[in-house]
Amino acid sequence: RRIDPAIVEIGQRLSSVKNIILVLSGKGGVGKTTVAVILARALARNPQLRIALLDIDICGPSVPRALGVENEQVHSSGSGWSPVYVTENLCAMSVGFLLTSLEQAVIWKGPRKDNMIKQFLLDVDWGEGELDYLIVDTPPGTSDEHLSVVNYLKNVSSLSGCILVTTPQEISLQDVRKEVSFVKQANINVLGIVENMSIFKCGKCHKESTIFPRHDGLRQLCETNNYELLSSIPIDPYIAKCCDDGEDLFELHSDSSTAKVYLNLAEKI
Ligand code: ADP
Repeated sequence: RRIDPAIVEIGQRLSSVKNIILVLSGKGGVGKTTVAVILARALARNPQLRIALLDIDICGPSVPRALGVENEQVHSSGSGWSPVYVTENLCAMSVGFLLTSLEQAVIWKGPRKDNMIKQFLLDVDWGEGELDYLIVDTPPGTSDEHLSVVNYLKNVSSLSGCILVTTPQEISLQDVRKEVSFVKQANINVLGIVENMSIFKCGKCHKESTIFPRHDGLRQLCETNNYELLSSIPIDPYIAKCCDDGEDLFELHSDSSTAKVYLNLAEKI
């Protein structure tokens, strides 16, 4: 059978990317974008590395806000679309940069989303030289966007794999199990699982509380599939505020325990 020429071209365009990592979750609201953004920032602490974040959540792009660049627009040049630079070694691309107003809703059917993702992978000029990490933030679940990105990246050798994000709650884990079935069908390597919103440690009395019930489900999921639990990230008001304000957790709260958990995650991938 004939291979889609776009897939071949995408392979060439992304040949200078060393690691492509998809960030997936079953459920929405579990912190997938937050993990993608703070992980990208954590990796970018190393000035030797060049990091890019691609947001393929076409209908709900929140990467621009979380990175503090939501009023930026992309520009096109002879070599394609230029991403938006957050710092010298961290850039991002999102459909959010193409909208004329922040309130504008994107109501697109599958084929149009597919085209947008193809264009992101084909036409974004990630800059001179090699990109060390391309982190891809996806929408929740296993929808059109997932099918598209997996299809276009299937022959790209630098697709290292995916990170699955979940809260400890059974209701989130239920959807992660579906995600696991999807990644197995799509033959995507699982780098590991990130448990987000694991516990809450009160800033005043320093006591730990369990907000979301923690059963044995996550441990079992890891054990059954031989997945590594990469990190357990607590509920941290600093994280929520930094994401809302588009601030860098590592600039404002570099000594916080959460910042350390993220730096440790960055070292593992
Ligand atoms: P998703 O991408 O899975 O839909 P988000 O990353 O948008 O989820 O996160 C949902 C909300 O939870 C956001 O308001 C975010 O700031 C907040 N959030 C995510 N992780 C944490 C955390 N560890 N501590 C506190 N707030 C968090």
